[in-house]
Amino acid sequence: MARKTKKKTAARKRTVAAKPKARKLARKVKARNARSAAGTDPKRLAAILAKLDEAYPDATCELRHENPFQLLISTILSAQCTDVRVNQVAETLYKKYPDPKAFAYATPSELEQEIRPTGFFRNKTKSVMGASKAIIEKFGGEVPRTMEEILTLPGVARKTGNVVLGTAYGITSGIVVDTHVLRLSKRLDLTRNDDPKKVEQDLMEIIPRENWIQFSHQLIWHGRRVCHARKPKCVECNLESLCYSKDKTV
Ligand code: SF4
Repeated sequence: MARKTKKKTAARKRTVAAKPKARKLARKVKARNARSAAGTDPKRLAAILAKLDEAYPDATCELRHENPFQLLISTILSAQCTDVRVNQVAETLYKKYPDPKAFAYATPSELEQEIRPTGFFRNKTKSVMGASKAIIEKFGGEVPRTMEEILTLPGVARKTGNVVLGTAYGITSGIVVDTHVLRLSKRLDLTRNDDPKKVEQDLMEIIPRENWIQFSHQLIWHGRRVCHARKPKCVECNLESLCYSKDKTV
């Protein structure tokens, strides 16, 4: 009897110990299934990339800038704002504040009013001034060239880091996941995640590294010109034959 009880207890212990492992494995399998169920067949992907090249051979960042620092500031200002609006504000902004020093020691209340049209101006003022100070104090006045370093700047997350490193320096660090890339990646069934960080990881796994920078620009252009959030212009879309999104309008 005593032996039976001991056996049962040991079996129960083994089951309890195995549970976290089983859960971890189940999560992994779920993640893998989610990915493999997506439309990531290499032939389909190659066709999508070819179609994007055909439609947008010269796609690039639409934030006007003359140097990496201006692109960094404009990208911070572009959160929840259109590039057109940021470009309008930037035109006078960079005349008054030509370098990191000018931004770092600006009068906050003045700067707030100057960037007010881009929205969230108080937080953006803090980020712009904080990033400028850090660039002077930690990086000798230059925008850093690695993701690790650029992420230490106030107000800078992976999206901004990827925009600046990719567009200003031509450094392939990742894939910009903004609202357009997020929406189109899902419509094209390249990911089934919603979190931008996970979407970027999914895309980095399936898109060849040499395409990362251009692919981001092309999806953003397609999102702005054709695959709109509300009414995608599917009749004009050259990816239509490859797309089986439930949002399709044809
Ligand atoms: S077919 Fe429509 S939904 Fe699909 S990518 Fe083109 S515009 Fe977007």
